[in-house]
Amino acid sequence: MKYTVAIVGRPNVGKSTLFNKLVGDRLSIVKDEPGVTRDRLYREMEWSGKEFILVDTGGLEPRTEDFMMAKIKQQAQVAIDEADVIIFLVDGKAGITGLDEDVATVLRKQDKKVVVAVNKIDNYMRDQENIFEFYGLGFEEVIGISGEHKTNLGDLLDAVINKF
Ligand code: GDP
Ligand code: MG
Repeated sequence: MKYTVAIVGRPNVGKSTLFNKLVGDRLSIVKDEPGVTRDRLYREMEWSGKEFILVDTGGLEPRTEDFMMAKIKQQAQVAIDEADVIIFLVDGKAGITGLDEDVATVLRKQDKKVVVAVNKIDNYMRDQENIFEFYGLGFEEVIGISGEHKTNLGDLLDAVINKF
């Protein structure tokens, strides 16, 4: 049985960008507006000899603000059900939002392994202080990354496969 790793987070934190950088192609559509990715995307990948299936959960993103809360919970729930490890992606430029807290609440209710990835830490020296507030979401492992600049993605993957 292969492990499944799901990238979960509110719209626009950079899930599809990270997914694309990790799998090394452009399967997932990246756009500025939330709700652009239509379907969940699954790709097999390998890191340090461990094979797993990576999931971009963006396909379950809400199309309108009205349904955002309900949908984000549903998205996180679906990912929780099928994932062995969850990459909980947040936006280090935006800080913690109410939707991040909603996702965290859903994730905490289940006994799933979670790595918090604080995205958009584009310049580590400059932006690293933005990472620390995310410990407040209540998960032990918090790693600053930049999907766009491919920064610290190796550390993120190490943390993920160590949880298998
Ligand atoms: P998703 O809705 O979570 O799938 O987010 P997307 O991957 O579609 O990205 C949303 C926006 O964030 C896009 O404008 C991306 O270019 C931008 N973005 C993604 N990763 C990074 C990053 O590491 N740094 C910065 N500065 N922007 C990023
Ligand atoms: Mg997306």
